[in-house]
Formats: sequence, structure tokens, C-alpha cells
Amino acid sequence: MSPLPVARAEIVVDLAAIRHNVRRLRELSGVQMMTVVKADGYGHGMSEVARAAREAGADWIGVATIAEALALRAGGDTGRVLCWLTVPGEDWAAAVSADVDVTAYSVAELDEIEAAVATSGRPARVQLKIDTGLSRGGAPVDTWPDVVAAARAGERAGTWRVTGIWSHLAASDEPEHPANDAQEAVFRDALAVAETAGLRPEVRHLANSAAAILRPSARFDLVRVGLASYGLDPAPGHTPDLGLRPAMTVRALLAQTKPLAAGASVSYGHTWTADTATSVGLVPVGYGDGVPRHASNTAQVQVDGKRRTIRGRVCMDQFVVDLDGDLPAAGEEVVLFGPGQHGEPTAQDWAEASGTISYEIVTRVGGRLTRRYVES
Ligand SMILES: *Cc1c(COP(=O)(O)O)cnc(C)c1O
Repeated sequence: MSPLPVARAEIVVDLAAIRHNVRRLRELSGVQMMTVVKADGYGHGMSEVARAAREAGADWIGVATIAEALALRAGGDTGRVLCWLTVPGEDWAAAVSADVDVTAYSVAELDEIEAAVATSGRPARVQLKIDTGLSRGGAPVDTWPDVVAAARAGERAGTWRVTGIWSHLAASDEPEHPANDAQEAVFRDALAVAETAGLRPEVRHLANSAAAILRPSARFDLVRVGLASYGLDPAPGHTPDLGLRPAMTVRALLAQTKPLAAGASVSYGHTWTADTATSVGLVPVGYGDGVPRHASNTAQVQVDGKRRTIRGRVCMDQFVVDLDGDLPAAGEEVVLFGPGQHGEPTAQDWAEASGTISYEIVTRVGGRLTRRYVES
């Protein structure tokens, strides 16, 4: 039965697995490791993951927003932290005062950072991001010489130190995709432009999890690893077995079990009908807790050592599983997903059942679920 303490529905995070994964990936890549903990550590808890990653040797922690970086500082993290997604009017001064490395995509952002340095009274640490073909954030290639020139001028003036130059790949989970070579070539050209202008960044970086594992040429000085740190596969079908361990288990207690007659239909819209007599169990979590409604009628959970398929639609607070005639007592443990070592489904299984990626499965779970940390 369920391990103590008994929670009605919870996320269990194995911090030893995260440490193991960070160590393994750092050893594999052979360069500096940035563990990415944005979006509340991909649903695993930002500060707890950051602490575990530091213990395992992470040189840097990466987040999207300034607010996330400041929350890390508030949680006691004193190491190097990079953030990379801002809007005009952002509190750059707070980031500079908190010794966070910030990312600039444009001269306008460098101007905002310069103003923040004036108020915070200390030089900033700035990294420059070039858009090498993802067409998401970053300096367009034609603006790069101007961004680099402004960055170098600020460095000479003592306004900041340019600590990094970086970019992000579009198709690192498809190692044969031509965008990988093309983006890496643009990145190398951008580094040459920066070097000619006199910039000497501490770290040049391009690789996320998939590229860190699958593309040694993209590792440069540092890899930014999110998903693989949590033990999930960033490129299903391509990743070799690295012995990574999924850190998240989502479990609940069955709220009710009962027999179901042949011909009875289940949940809203009656999208599933029992063609023979069976039994069902009520799982007290739903899309309000991040369980994808797209998992209706497809995903599986584990109850009493067996895989059980969701029947009917996932509701806001609950869903129903087929118990195939078994009638375990209410209170029996349900494992939605976990590492998979004991026959339970994995986050990857849920992703495939729901038409999404494991990133989304782990990041979206939350709602009323409580979180508990363990050491396996
Ligand atoms: C989220 C993110 C990462 C981490 O990506 P994974 O595929 O989870 O390793 C790296 N870099 C940037 C810019 C990101 O936004």
C-alpha cells in the first residue's frame, strides 16, 4: 500500500535522482553545467531542484524570468544564475543588485540595463543572445554587430562585464535535422564577430538537453540542461541509455471503487460504454491539477500492480479508471506516472497518450496536489 505520509494526491520528487542525473550529464558533457529550473523546476520545485543540482556540481542555474532568479536568491542560492526573458520596464536593477546574470537581445535592452546599473550602483553581468534560426528571442543576425558594439562600449565604460554569448536550437531533438548544422554555423560566425569587437565572454553556449547529449560540437563552454536533469528523455528514439532516473512520481488514493454493469457509460458525454460487466475506480485528480483532458480514454495508471486505462473524459477534479473486474478497497494507491521501474506508466507514456511531450506533462501537474521530497 501507500508509503507514509498518506496524501490524497501528491507529487513525489526524488532529489537523489536529480543529483544523479546532474552528475551523469556533467560527466558526459565535460563542460560547465547549467541546470535549468524555470517554471518551478519543470514542476519539481525550483529552489529544491536548484539546491540538489548545486550539490551535484551544477556551475550555473538557468531560469526564464528575473522574478524566478530573485526567488532563487530569496531561497538562499548564491551561485551563478542566468535569466533570459524580459519585457520593457522589467526590474533590471533588482537583478543586477542580486548579482544575477541577465540576457540582452537588443541595444534597447542594453540601454535599460545601463540605467539599472546607475541606480543599483554596481556593474552588471550581461550575456548576449543571438537568434541563429529559432526565430524566437534573440538579436536578429543583421543587428548583431550593433548589439556587440554597444555591449563592448558598455564593458569599456565599466557598466557591465559581458559574461556570455549564446543561442538556442530549434530541432536538437532531431539530430539529423539540417537546422542544427545551420544554426551552429551562424553561431560560430556570431562568436567571431564578437571576438573581433573585443568581447571575451566566460561562456559561449548553444546546447539544451538533447544537444548536450547528442551533439558534442554544440557543447562549447557550457550546456543548459533542463529536461534530462529530471530524468526524462529529451529526444525519444534518439537518446542512448544514459541511466538517467525520472525524479517525479504522481500518486493518489482511490476515492471509490464499484462494479459497473455491461452497457453503462462513463463520465461527461458518455464517451465510453462498458461492453461487458467490469469495475471502476475513481481517481481524485483532474485537469484542475494538470492532468491533461486529452488523456481521456487513453492514458493509463497503475493500481494494485496492474495498468488500468482511463475510461471516459478526464474531469476538473477526478477521472475514472477501468479496474477490469477487480475491486480493491477505496484508499488503494494509484500511480499516475513514475520512473517506470515497477511497471507504472511514465511521463513519456502520458505524453504519448495525450499528444504532447513529457516536458508538458511534468510541468503542468500541480493544482491541489501537494509536493513531497524523498531520497531514493
Ligand atoms: C528551457 C530552456 C533550456 C532547457 O531545455 P531542455 O530541452 O529542457 O534541456 C535551455 N535553454 C533555454 C533558452 C531554454 O529556454
